Order: sequence, then C-alpha cells, then structure tokens
Amino acid sequence: MDSEREAIRALTGAHDGAFWLEETEAPVFAPPLGRHVEVDLVIVGAGFLGLWSAILAKERFPEWEIAVVEGGRVGFGASGRNGGFVDASLTHGLENGLGRWPDEMVELERLGGENLAAIADFIGQHHIDCEFMQTGAIDVATDGWQLDGLEEYALTARTFGHDTTVLDRREVQELVHSPVYEGGLWTTNRTALVNPAKLAWGLAGVASSLGVEIYEGTVVTGVTVIGGMVDVTTAQSGSLRSAKVILATNAFPSLLPGVGNFIIPVYDYVLMTEPLTTSQMEAVGWDGRQGLSDLGNLFHYYRLTSDNRILWGGYDAIYHYGSRISASYRLRSRTHLLLARHFFETFPMLEGVRFTHAWGGAIDTSTRFSMFFGSRHQGKIQYALGFTGLGVGATRFAAEVLCARLEPKESAFEHLGLVRTKPVPFPPEPLRSAAVAITRRSLMRADASEGHRNLWLRTLDRFGVGFDS
Ligand SMILES: Cc1cc2nc3c(=O)[nH]c(=O)nc-3n(C[C@H](O)[C@H](O)[C@H](O)COP(=O)(O)OP(=O)(O)OC[C@H]3O[C@@H](n4cnc5c(N)ncnc54)[C@H](O)[C@@H]3O)c2cc1C
Repeated sequence: MDSEREAIRALTGAHDGAFWLEETEAPVFAPPLGRHVEVDLVIVGAGFLGLWSAILAKERFPEWEIAVVEGGRVGFGASGRNGGFVDASLTHGLENGLGRWPDEMVELERLGGENLAAIADFIGQHHIDCEFMQTGAIDVATDGWQLDGLEEYALTARTFGHDTTVLDRREVQELVHSPVYEGGLWTTNRTALVNPAKLAWGLAGVASSLGVEIYEGTVVTGVTVIGGMVDVTTAQSGSLRSAKVILATNAFPSLLPGVGNFIIPVYDYVLMTEPLTTSQMEAVGWDGRQGLSDLGNLFHYYRLTSDNRILWGGYDAIYHYGSRISASYRLRSRTHLLLARHFFETFPMLEGVRFTHAWGGAIDTSTRFSMFFGSRHQGKIQYALGFTGLGVGATRFAAEVLCARLEPKESAFEHLGLVRTKPVPFPPEPLRSAAVAITRRSLMRADASEGHRNLWLRTLDRFGVGFDS
C-alpha cells in the first residue's frame, strides 16, 4: 500500500472539528452574563478543572454562591477535544514523577489511584452518560530500542500497585493485530477511557443542579483585588465581585502577570475514523479496547470509541512563536496527513477506512509536564496549570487541592513538592521558539537513532526540564 496516497484518500471529506463536540448537541447553560453579580467564589473556565472545582467547592461549602464564567462554551477548550484517556497518574507518568519527587511517589501514586476511583464513583453516582470504561492501557514498542528497560519498568510499576505485564511481540500482536508492534507494557488498572465532551457536559449538569451558575460566552478581561474583594471584569456587559477566584484557564493567556512564562500552548492533533465494520474490527482484534500509545519520544495515542471508531492522535506537537493561540491553529493539514500515514502504517489491514473528523487543540505544556499551583493576594486568587497532555484525570485532583486552599487551615496536600513547587519557566522569545524547535528536532533524532539522546536532551534531562505533549 502507498500510505501517502491512502492517507490523502482517507482524509478527503473529513470534517474540520472535534468529533466529541459535534457527535451530540452541546447543552446550553446560562447565556452571557449581562449584569453585576456578587458571589462567594468565581471560577474562570468551564473545562474539567473549572467544573470539578465548582463541584468540589460546592460540596465543601454548600452555602456558598458560586459562578463559573466561560469565554466560549462548556468543554470547548482542551476538555472537549482530547483523546479521552483518564489516567491515574498525577505526574505525567511514573517515570516523570520518579525523576522529580522520588520520595513522594508512593503517596502521589496512591492519590492518583484514589482520584481515578473518585472520578469513576462520581460518574456512577450521578449517572453521567459519558462512555466511561476502565479499559487499562498498553504502551506499545514499535522499534526494538523501545523494548529496553520494559522489564525493569514493570518491576518498578508493580511496587506502586500497577497491574503491569510485559508483552512480547507475539503477545502484543495477539491483543491488537498491528504488524509494527515489537512488544508492549500492559497495565490494567491505571487508565480509563471516556467521551470527554459528554463528561464535561455531565459535570456541568451536576454543578448546575447543585446551584452553581454557569455563564457561557463571557470572556473575563481582568481580576483585580479592591477592598479585600476580587473584581472580575468581562468583555460583555456583566461583571462579578467575589471573595475568592479560581482561574482554570489552561493554555489560554493567563489573567495574572508572570504566570504565562510557566506554560506554553502546544497544539496536539487528532483524527477520528468512521465506525469500523465487523470484519475490520476482527482484522484489528483489540477485544480489550485498551487505550494504546507508542513508546517513542514523539508518540501516538489511540483508542476505540463506543461505536468502534478509532481516535488517532499525537506525534506532532506544534508551538507557535510568541505563545500565540488561535482557532485557526486547530487544523494543520500537514500534521493530519502525517498522522493518517502513520495510521495506515500501523493498521495496513484498514486500507479503505475513511477519517470523518480532523482537529487539534492547545495543551498547557510545562517544563516538568505536570500540574503546578499558585496564588495571589493572600490566596484570594488561586490557579492550577501545566497538566501538559495528561489532564483529563489530573484536573480533578488539582481541583481538590484548589478547593482545600479555600479553607483557612493548611490542607493535607501542602507538603507535596508537586503542590508546593513551580516548574522552571520557559525562556523569553526568541529563545523560547528556538529551544522548542531544537528539542523537537532532537527528540525526533533520538527516535530515529535507537533512542540515543543527544547532548542537548541530556543537558535538559540533567536540569529536569523538557518538552512533551
Ligand atoms: C488534542 C488533545 C488531546 C489530549 N488528550 C488527552 C488525553 O487523552 N488524556 C489526558 O489526560 N489529557 C489529554 N489532553 C489534555 C487535557 O485535555 C487537558 O489537560 C484538560 O482538558 C485541561 O482541562 P482545563 O479545564 O484545565 O482546560 P480547558 O478544557 O482548556 O478549559 C479552559 C477553559 O477556560 C476558558 N477560558 C480561558 N480564558 C478565559 C477567559 N479569560 N475568560 C473566560 N473563559 C476563559 C476556555 O474557553 C476554556 O473552556 C489533551 C489535550 C488536547 C488538546
């Protein structure tokens, strides 16, 4: 098969837009705020972080009046356009966590497991119809060098309660019939899959039913502390005044000076196929419906949907000079074509399948790939950022930390380095773009040369900083 020609054919007619956000009609919450409102807590952003924060704050302080202010629509940021992998890791993976907080990993991994269980329980209790399935995940090696260290990794992972098995070529190909697999790591108990838009809408529905007001189409332009209260101005005619504010704005420009240097918006891209036929499903196997990703530095992640489509994303992570974000960056035909080619190289038996949707979204990449927290004005304004590409589950934990910080007493999370410390900031432009470009090129070269990390990557490793999606 000529995978380039096949990719072009398969993409012809693909719709520009996130499948999840289009598959079902988005529910409408309150219209743009057109008046002045005084509340106890304002949350800016109605993605997973903002919505979990609203729910957990309302559970802690049932008497509080809480408003969520969303510039677009609920879930239309990263939360409604991601791969839907709900991972237990709070640290963007075990290895990243062990490299940074080795002494805390037992606790962080336990908290991550509890967080995943709490998400599952919440979805069950509130009957949120979001196709949540605890499928587990397989990391697949697509090149011999990626097999190095898998046994050692599995041994370590098991000590943290991961149910991890190393698979050889035959075993992994038996589970999912791709000829490019050389082996894999199968972990059954740390990953679930979800329809992320339906989860966001479900969370917003629960928040509303608890009495939280959600104003869509209301862009916050500023947060200023005056007379011990926070004034929240908007680009619409409404405004808010509140005792406390949580900023849950992810990769969008920060409303606080200086915070923007801790993250860069990195665009990640996704394709969705049409539903596979029964014979195509048989050709692929994948009965366990696990979330899959490959073990390269630049990696793909992919999964089945409830109607047997394949979501296929990742690999290319694109940064735009000046940390610019734009709706137009969500489409990148060069990347979508590359992804489509890789798809058919992985699943040649799916020749003839079409892609129905192609989209992208911005990730709030931090140099340590994991969340961090901050506050201003004696805790009146709180934020969490930096989830990088693994925030679907981790945002709930971050919301717990933020809500605990609304209490006058110090919370049980404050001793954690993950909570207390901030990542190394990104350098200013033009150094920022240059550093990202060199890092991406070096990662690509490492993938092409048996994983060998060049001097640049080894230097970054030594300083505990990097670039990931
Ligand atoms: C393509 C892609 C694939 C991904 N895949 C996965 C995955 O499979 N698993 C995983 O764990 N993570 C994944 N992620 C990351 C994950 O989606 C995010 O970490 C998570 O959704 C972040 O949630 P959030 O609430 O912080 O941000 P968002 O969902 O982006 O929400 C922020 C909200 O704030 C609003 N906002 C911003 N500024 C303002 C303002 N001034 N006024 C009003 N509103 C404002 C925005 O409109 C937006 O709705 C992926 C991300 C992308 C883009």
